[in-house]
Amino acid sequence: MSKWVWLNGQLVEREKAAISVFDHGILYGDGVFEGIRFYDRKVFKLDEHIDRLFNSAKIIMLEIPISKDELKKAVLLSCRESGLANGYIRPVVTRGSGALGLAPWRCSNPNIFIIVDTLQLYPQELYDNGMPIVTVATRRNIPEALNPMIKSLNYLNNIMAKIEAKNAGAEEAIMLNHDGYVAECTGDNIFIIRNGVIYTPPVYAGSLPGITMSTVIELAAGMGIKTVEKMFTRAEVYTSDECFLTGTAAEVVPVISVDGRIIGDGAPGVLTRKLVDAFKDYTRKSGTPVE
Ligand code: PMP
Repeated sequence: MSKWVWLNGQLVEREKAAISVFDHGILYGDGVFEGIRFYDRKVFKLDEHIDRLFNSAKIIMLEIPISKDELKKAVLLSCRESGLANGYIRPVVTRGSGALGLAPWRCSNPNIFIIVDTLQLYPQELYDNGMPIVTVATRRNIPEALNPMIKSLNYLNNIMAKIEAKNAGAEEAIMLNHDGYVAECTGDNIFIIRNGVIYTPPVYAGSLPGITMSTVIELAAGMGIKTVEKMFTRAEVYTSDECFLTGTAAEVVPVISVDGRIIGDGAPGVLTRKLVDAFKDYTRKSGTPVE
């Protein structure tokens, strides 16, 4: 873990990094965040993550008081000072301290902080042998209420689904949208493969536009594999040839069963394995150097 947290322009010792209990990020989940990885001292898809952070902020009308370039520099500095070669970066922008009551315009300056740490989301065994997942009853937020394309500090929808998954003995869960179509998992995008074609739900199904997802789609295209964005149901997942999840924290995870239905032959699929390898290779080759 890094000794430092970047907080409003300064590196502060981890234990001393603090923000007010009156910050609306804490009181109401009013704020936005990102999750970014760095590999071999290179930050993966930095521009894409910073763009998505600013987009999330724009949707909730939160003006980030520094420029994209300044934030990128702060991210790179935070990585450098962590002394780590590989890790996970968490930039957060809150609405700032304000009076009780929802009104965001009664808040002072947003707080910006960046945490750098190591992260292994799941045990290696699940990457090697694949992960069993379940569908949970908690539906993904409807876009008309709280659009899943906003990476906001309000992640309770996903946390409730994660708890349900845990109660059912699984590490990850499929979340359906309000119409019953597969949207995404609690912290990952989902893909199925049938007859050599990859399918993933479109963002309007109710999912976050994943940066790992677009990377995997590009890598697949480079391997001559087509990806189609379309709505699908649980039944289509059960009968798919292969299934996998993508996310910055999770990376690419093969899925071997869904709600007790074995996917393919119950082992990570051939194309999934190829994509896992291609992704790993690509993460080591690309990225913004931390210095
Ligand atoms: N869906 C949700 C709900 C997420 O929180 C995330 C990020 N962890 C993803 C999908 C994957 O997005 P990305 O690949 O950009 O990390």
